Amino acid sequence: MSELVVEDLHAVVGETPILHGVTLTVRSGEVHAVMGPNGSGKSTLSNVLMGRPGYRATSGTATLDGVDLLALPTWERARAGLFLASQYPTEVPGVHVADVLAAAFTASGRDPALVAGRMADEAAAIGFDSSLVDRALNVDLSGGEKKRNETLQLAVLEPRIAVLDELDSGLDVDALRAVSRRLEAATTGPDPIGILAITHYSRLLEVLHADVVHIFAGGRILDTGGPELVDRLEAEGYASWGA
Ligand code: ADP
Ligand code: MG
Repeated sequence: MSELVVEDLHAVVGETPILHGVTLTVRSGEVHAVMGPNGSGKSTLSNVLMGRPGYRATSGTATLDGVDLLALPTWERARAGLFLASQYPTEVPGVHVADVLAAAFTASGRDPALVAGRMADEAAAIGFDSSLVDRALNVDLSGGEKKRNETLQLAVLEPRIAVLDELDSGLDVDALRAVSRRLEAATTGPDPIGILAITHYSRLLEVLHADVVHIFAGGRILDTGGPELVDRLEAEGYASWGA
């Protein structure tokens, strides 16, 4: 059992305060949805957790199984079991996803020879054309293909906790179903992962079932509840929370 514990997290982007005290706990097997308007700080939360340059925590804590994430460089956060599927995956010319995954396996003491087979299995599971897998990381991939590439990496790496920043944006209906099925499967079974899914849409959550829904605006969580909050959001919009 793993847990990501975020307590009263404040953060700046550059010098601008964006997060104003975020508190949540995601455990293995749980799916938490974070839903909030554009510009509310959702990506900032994911970037601060993963340690992207330019995004800086100013107070509060974030730990994964007791490990102080905020004190670590990004690669050590990943090694501790955190994964981020970026809203806008970065293109890395000259570097292949297989090399990235093999390096990650080596860094975490796993056998990199397992990567090729795992990649083939996972690409098939989400209907990702294996010829695309051989391209340099995200180079010349469509928006939806990049999101499938992120999902492939997640599935092969098997993190403890995954943060998904609008993984559903850009995916067509079939890809969305395949990706959300794979994610739902990852949150069940004997060694499930925990997921913090930032999303605008309830469609992702039709297959990936959220245990907890957070309504997020202005850099803070306004409300936390169950899936009924999604219905209220669809019916009444964020104005229902005064956002
Ligand atoms: P969301 O993901 O909820 O749409 P973001 O976290 O991307 O929101 O953005 C929150 C605020 O921080 C916005 O006002 C945005 O313009 C600003 N911001 C985010 N990243 C950067 C950046 N790298 N440079 C400047 N401003 C940024
Ligand atoms: Mg965003």
